[in-house]
Parts: sequence; C-alpha cells; structure tokens
Amino acid sequence: MLSEELRNKYQLIIGLEVHAQLLTESKMFAADANEYGKSPNTQISVITLGHPGTLPKVNRKAIAFAIKMGLACNSEITRYNVFARKNYFYPDLPKGYQLTQDKGPICVGGTVPIQLPDGTKKEVILNRVHMEEDAGKSIHLAGEADTLVDFNRAGTPLIEIVTEPDLKSPEEAYAFLTEVKKLVKYLDVCDGNMEEGSLRCDANVSVMLKGATELGKKVEVKNMNSFRNVFRAIEHEHERLIGLIEAGEEVISETRTFDANTGLTASMRTKEDLNDYRYFPEPDLSPVVISDEWLNAVKATMPVLPRELHKKFVDVYGLPDYDASFLTESKEVALWFNELCSKTKNYKAASNWVMGPVKSSLNELSLHVDDFPISHESLATLIALVDEGKVSYTAASQNLYPEMLKSATESPMEIAHRLNLIQESDESSLRPIVEEVLAANAGKVKEYRSGKKGLMGLFMGQVMKKSQGKADPKVATKLLTELLEN
Ligand code: ADP
Ligand code: MG
Repeated sequence: MLSEELRNKYQLIIGLEVHAQLLTESKMFAADANEYGKSPNTQISVITLGHPGTLPKVNRKAIAFAIKMGLACNSEITRYNVFARKNYFYPDLPKGYQLTQDKGPICVGGTVPIQLPDGTKKEVILNRVHMEEDAGKSIHLAGEADTLVDFNRAGTPLIEIVTEPDLKSPEEAYAFLTEVKKLVKYLDVCDGNMEEGSLRCDANVSVMLKGATELGKKVEVKNMNSFRNVFRAIEHEHERLIGLIEAGEEVISETRTFDANTGLTASMRTKEDLNDYRYFPEPDLSPVVISDEWLNAVKATMPVLPRELHKKFVDVYGLPDYDASFLTESKEVALWFNELCSKTKNYKAASNWVMGPVKSSLNELSLHVDDFPISHESLATLIALVDEGKVSYTAASQNLYPEMLKSATESPMEIAHRLNLIQESDESSLRPIVEEVLAANAGKVKEYRSGKKGLMGLFMGQVMKKSQGKADPKVATKLLTELLEN
C-alpha cells in the first residue's frame, strides 16, 4: 500500500477504450447471423471467412446504430466515411486484416455525463466513436495442446468508444462504464453484457507529478471482464506506476494483462513489438456517405435519453436528484415511472413506491417491469387511498400491496374492503368509539386533565384496538383532543 503522501504527489490519468457489439441481426459486412452462443462455426459465410473473390457490403443498421451513439453523446457526425484495412495475422482473423476506421471516425468528440457515489458530476470528454468488425475467437481448452478456433464472432459489428485521457480515478472510470452501458441499453444498440463480451474495456493508465503539464507514459491494460475488475486493474496500475517512478525506474509503454484471481497485471507486449498495421482504404467498399435525409431519419428514431428523463423528474416532478438517478438507471423502470406520473399527482409518493416495494418485487420475482402484475392505474389508486386517509400507509404496504401483486382482477378498493383495511376516518362513526374508551378510563382521563398529557398514547391505543386498527390516527387524535380538553 502506498502512503497517502505518495498518492498525493502524483496525478492518476486514465483513458478508456470501450468496444460494444451492436445488436444487428446480421454482421458488419455480410448477411450471416449475428448471434451469440451458437454452435462453433455455424454463423459464417465465405465473406466472413475472407475467401478470395468475395465482396463485403456495409450493414446500414450498424451505421445507424453508431450514429445514434454519436447523437446521444453530442458528437459531431462524420458524413464521408471510409473503412480501412488494419493488417495483422491472427489465427482467429480469417481475412488477415480487420476492417476499421483509421482516419475520420464516424463520431468525433462528444461527452458522456457521469455521477460519482458522492454526488459529484462530470462530463467525460470523448475522443471519438469509430466502427469496426470483431475478430473470431480462439479457444484454449485446459489440458489440450491444440487451440480451437470459432469464427462465429468474426465480422460482428462493433463501435469503439474512446475517451480523452480525462478520467482521474478508478471511481470515475467505473461511473463512465456504468453510464456507457446505460446509454447503449437506452439506445437499444448493444445489450451491455460484459460477461458475454458484448461490452469490453481496455484501460490506459499513467501517472504524472501533480501540476505537471505533460502526461506520463501510459500502459494499456486488457482482459478485464467486469467493471469491478477494470476498477481493480486501474488501482493496481496506479500503485505499481508510482512505485516504479519512486524507485527511479522507467515506465515502459506496454500492453499488460489483468489476472482477476490475483488482482495483478503482467506484461504482454511492449511498443517495440508493435505491429505496423499498414492501414489502407478498403478497395472493395465505396465510402459510406451519410446524407441529411439519412441523418434525420436516424434522429427520428432516437429514444428519450437518461439525462433528459433525469431532468424531467427533477424539474417537472420536483424529485430529489437521488430519486431521479435511481429511477433512470434502467430505461424500462424510468418509462414505467413516467407513465405512473400521468395517473397521479403525488410524484414523491410514486417515486417512493417504485424505488421501494415495486423494485424489490421485480427483483424477488425476477420480473421485467413490463410484466409487472400491478397496473399504473392500480398503483395510482393505492397512492390515492393513502393520501385520502382511507387506508393507512402501513396497511397499504404490508397488506394491500402484496395482495394486489397476487390478484390482478380485483381493484385496490375491493381488496381493501375484503381485507377490512378501510380506515374509520368518518368522525361520526369514530366518535362513539372514542367516547366509550374515555368512559371506560375515567381515572386516566382525570390524570390527563391534571397534566399527564403522556396518557394520550394509551387512549389512542385503545381506540385503535376497539376499531380493529381501522381508525384513522389523524381523526382519532382530533376527536380525543376535543373530548379530553372539554
Ligand atoms: P495509442 O496510439 O497508444 O493507441 P491513443 O492516443 O490512440 O494511443 O489513445 C488511446 C487511449 O489512451 C485513449 O483513450 C487515450 O485517452 C488514452 N491515453 C493516451 N495517452 C494517455 C496517457 N498518457 N495516460 C492515460 N491515458 C492515455
Ligand atoms: Mg489504441
């Protein structure tokens, strides 16, 4: 562990490169299905395998998805796009080159808003979002001398989201990845599944003396399969790099691999082994020109974005920032809540119900919110029943709500009647009960009147008992006070 003093001497700098597999039906340049989890080498064609004489063709949907990401990040959209061959040999790269965007990425610049656990907000600056195709997969089975190759993944459309060296802590990197995952899911361009490799992240890490104007030499860390592991890898590099510099050693630009079991990184290759990829424009593809019409058509398909919903929840519904962040974490829940707010005006109560009971029910029942058994109308009615004093909040959350989950055909009011949960808030029906209680406790009434105000709780308890828990506490208190003070 480094001392606080050493940590404070240096500034940590991180730049992330995030690959997101696009949810298109077919591949980037061929018609083979883009599906995860199929038997090896069944989702392939002569184009994917790079047979001589075959010609690639651009997937329009993949381009549209990349544009959507750019629009969501306020990037500048490049209108004239050229794909380039990045030449290198790899067993799972059947063509011997990867098609990517070298110069002129489809989205230039832009920002992604993040929020840290302590509430700090920041706009992370993007360098670019570019398009490329994925390679196949080499499979090394334990105990086997041979490596197996599965080409199903070859040609899967990817966007690579590249930040500027703008992140300053593992917390910021974690928040950025969370936000990118949220964004691609809102946009429906990627499923955001890191375990299945739909979202992958390389972390570039360097340190420099605080106040220095030039960035330190960076290392690039690969093979982290969760956000948590990206966090751990950065933390490890942070310490390792400071340790190196403090020991008078030189940081070498290299690619390192992260080991989740040990939490350590190890060198994979250094800059000296760097390939010269000899990029050149793909001669078999004409440039992809994005016309105004096309751009506008994509704009028309843009869904509401998390930051827009967040703003609405705060500005229009008057919710705390915490609620708005929580509710917009998932698009489905955010939209469900938004719909609920068209049925009730008690937005804070609606937020509390969704953040609490509804969210826990969804988790417990492993339900998607679209399959939630309680309708917006019913939940709004439940909120109204509490607001009008017909059902106490306790009865609503502990008895009525669980029953609503089970029976979709009965209205909340019907259930409340069936379970005998309707509060006596009618003064005329409560008055006799209150009078009875006071008459039965004449001695205590005397004590109360001579100053022992604490006895109120005892009277209240008796009224509740006599009314079988259905007395509206507000009305009961009012009647008790009235009768006791006279
Ligand atoms: P390379 O040419 O090595 O791929 P790039 O300039 O393309 O480097 O940057 C790749 C990623 O590394 C980007 O996300 C960028 O923000 C990040 N990066 C660049 N320099 C540094 C640095 N000194 N420290 C941390 N990250 C850096
Ligand atoms: Mg790079």
